[in-house]
Amino acid sequence: ITKIGVFTSGGDSPGMNAAIRAVVRTCAYHNKECIAIHRGYQGMIEGDFEDMNARSVKAIINRGGTILRSARSLEFKTPEGRAKAYNNLKEANIEALVAIGGDGTFTGAMIFSQEYNIPIVGIPGTIDNDIKGTTYTLGYDTALNTVVDAIDKIRDTASSHDRLFFIEVMGRDVGHIALNAGIGAGAEEILIPEENLGLDRLLESLEKSRRSGKTSSIVIVAEGDNIGKNVFELKDYVNEHLPFYDVRVSVLGHMQRGGSPTCFDRVLASRMGVKAVESLLDGKSGYMVGLLQDKMCLTPLDQAIKGHTEIDRELLRVSDIMSV
Ligand code: ATP
Repeated sequence: ITKIGVFTSGGDSPGMNAAIRAVVRTCAYHNKECIAIHRGYQGMIEGDFEDMNARSVKAIINRGGTILRSARSLEFKTPEGRAKAYNNLKEANIEALVAIGGDGTFTGAMIFSQEYNIPIVGIPGTIDNDIKGTTYTLGYDTALNTVVDAIDKIRDTASSHDRLFFIEVMGRDVGHIALNAGIGAGAEEILIPEENLGLDRLLESLEKSRRSGKTSSIVIVAEGDNIGKNVFELKDYVNEHLPFYDVRVSVLGHMQRGGSPTCFDRVLASRMGVKAVESLLDGKSGYMVGLLQDKMCLTPLDQAIKGHTEIDRELLRVSDIMSV
């Protein structure tokens, strides 16, 4: 292999730039050429390429988002779209790829690499932490810190006004952000997709915390909570049943995906970038790099995308005990 392409795809996450930097510099270290592909698979189809060298990635380790930009490409889901992408790669002499993204990106990578026999290694970049084969995905730690910081600020205003806040955080299928940020920010209750607390228990818990002398409360709700109501419906429901509470809603939204990556994510990105390039140079293909028991390792892409990582039940208990 003499030339490696790198791209970011799907939802962006903090740390993607640090990973791009690591891929580009590891190529330079091993005297390989590196080509950046802009806008993910769509840029591959359109031949939107750029030659990179060690200096092209200066001053990006601290930046959120992705300098290569990201895109969702419907065309890449068609054989015709993938044929165009392959022809462009071939013309540019790109022989292997590092794909930075989530499970959709890896699904595309698997199909493409099998169809055209092009080596691909993936780096899991998503704030949701919902990919098997790594304890932490890139951007998750930053998102957690962003969410905790936001909840702290909301708590300041909640306690000044004796309010109950429902705060919606990202997590359509998994509750990692909600559970960890909720514990970290001292939330009273945490509603996640993996568990159904039940409306009665929620009311009971809020009443109990009121009786115990709490004047304000924070409830964290993952987007995909399992209680059957979204944050606004929860607000109405609680307003109706516990009229003594002044209930407010805050949806944190896309700010959770932005911001400068934490040191943890920068180090993780650097390790993952090195591992991805060196795995390709070792002749590996169809793997995702990940961190397991603090060691870099490889997991076959099909296993990485097969299932979500499970919630740690111990954390549920800790959260329960903390809201005594
Ligand atoms: P996020 O964490 O934001 O969900 P993701 O990588 O899962 O990130 P997706 O939009 O699901 O984001 O996927 C990114 C891109 O991967 C899609 O726009 C599409 O181009 C490609 N892709 C996804 N699934 C397939 C598929 N079955 N076949 C070919 N390409 C695919």
